[in-house]
Amino acid sequence: MDAATITSWMREIDTSVRVERDHLVQLDAAIGDGDHGTNMTRGFEAVVQALGADNGSPPGRLLIIAGRTLVSTVGGASGPLWGSALRAGGRTLGDQTTFDGAQLTEVLAAALASVKDLGTAALGDKTMVDALEPAVDILRARVADGEPLDRALDDAAEAAEAGMRATIPLQARKGRASYLGERSVGHQDPGATSTALIIRALQRAVTSGG
Ligand code: ADP
Ligand code: MG
Repeated sequence: MDAATITSWMREIDTSVRVERDHLVQLDAAIGDGDHGTNMTRGFEAVVQALGADNGSPPGRLLIIAGRTLVSTVGGASGPLWGSALRAGGRTLGDQTTFDGAQLTEVLAAALASVKDLGTAALGDKTMVDALEPAVDILRARVADGEPLDRALDDAAEAAEAGMRATIPLQARKGRASYLGERSVGHQDPGATSTALIIRALQRAVTSGG
């Protein structure tokens, strides 16, 4: 995997958040302010544009550029959270031009650590952490077992999707949805939903050999 894998990942995210924009808006309208779909669409459209203008940066640099772009284009909580996540992930790659499954796992682990550090959310708080953490855990375990990366990523995407669905019965303890208290129960978290899309997009980008 190399810089093209990252560009392809960001394009896959851009496409899937656009396809799911109205759904993400509806989820956020139920327990937040209804901007999550437009936040993510605006952010990743800008990321794809920024990467399209890039001239041969290594994969880690591309992630850092992507993260910086999200921070500067997305006003909601998800912008700084995913922005710092991608920057932290990118830093783990330094200036290397290629990376393997173990290094990709480190990228996602650093992204997760950054989200938890900045947002102080733990598993079960009904946030994007509920999708991202299980994905990172499964990916690490599968890669350590020597599983082929496309299968490991498929398992990681499934874990993120399961984590996303598992937010429905939870009460939000972080972010805007936490203001609703018990009324946040019974709704799927928008950030966990877009995070599942982001991990699925990674699986597609790697499997398609991008
Ligand atoms: P905002 O809440 O500012 O309108 P968005 O609607 O774009 O921003 O994003 C909302 C999502 O951000 C939530 O569904 C949740 O998953 C995530 N989120 C909010 N606060 C936190 C936090 N402190 N830690 C982790 N994720 C958070
Ligand atoms: Mg919102």
